[in-house]
Amino acid sequence: MVTGGASGIGHAVVADLAAHGYRVAVLDREAPADGDADRVRWVVGDVRDPDANDRVVDVALSSFGGLDLFVGNAGVHDGGIGVRDVGGAELAEVTRYVLDVDVVGYLLGARAAAEALADSGGSMVFTLSDAAYLVRGNGAGIAYAAAKHAALGMVRHLAADLAPAVRVNAVAPGGIVTGLRTAGGRQVFADADEITATVRAFNPLGVVLCAEQVAPLYRFLASPAAAGMTGEVLRPDGGLTVR
Ligand code: NAD
Repeated sequence: MVTGGASGIGHAVVADLAAHGYRVAVLDREAPADGDADRVRWVVGDVRDPDANDRVVDVALSSFGGLDLFVGNAGVHDGGIGVRDVGGAELAEVTRYVLDVDVVGYLLGARAAAEALADSGGSMVFTLSDAAYLVRGNGAGIAYAAAKHAALGMVRHLAADLAPAVRVNAVAPGGIVTGLRTAGGRQVFADADEITATVRAFNPLGVVLCAEQVAPLYRFLASPAAAGMTGEVLRPDGGLTVR
């Protein structure tokens, strides 16, 4: 089960999983251009809706006979808004929306998937961000940083709560050019050339990764090779830890 699989990182994760033998049930608010495929079933809905999350688990159980991985990934950005950049009403609206999608959406997916994953001895992998650690310089504003820091806390709490039956880990990428949108619907990476130069200059390795490069990390965290890992975060961000 993958959320936010119609675009960007989620789309690459779905393709990577399907190419490696998984059958995937996807929840996204948009129907993808390529539609249902041999190994992929789509549910159009909103991650903020508990019933939509339950429906995807039902699709996995009824179509595939079980669930062994939940990838919580659907997310939105705040457009880099600082605490004094906008009025109080707008700040509250953006913050509530970002937290609702990026944190509550993850929790509702985890709640929906937990029982089936406990039955299978499966795992969860969430998409965090360098914004789960950094507070300046990566283009994120206060709401996005708050949401990704909160999601990191959620990953650790879930890992403790669901052990030993279910492992819970995360991937925290740096900047990747995708269709990521702000609460207002604006594309964060509209100017791909400018963003690419900014990301490259920001990280010690001078890299700009693409979604297909981070997708295998999700599969690794779900695999027996990661059987001893829970509450852990892989950080494909070009080395920001040593910046
Ligand atoms: P994206 O916009 O290309 O993909 C996000 C997907 O989530 C889209 O298909 C969108 O329709 C879906 N989505 C958004 N809100 C939804 C909702 N309420 N209900 C259902 N589906 C919804 O963006 P992306 O960059 O691939 O983002 C995926 C995740 O990666 C997000 O959690 C984002 O915060 C995180 N992330 C992105 C970057 C980056 O640089 N692109 C870096 C670190 C983390």
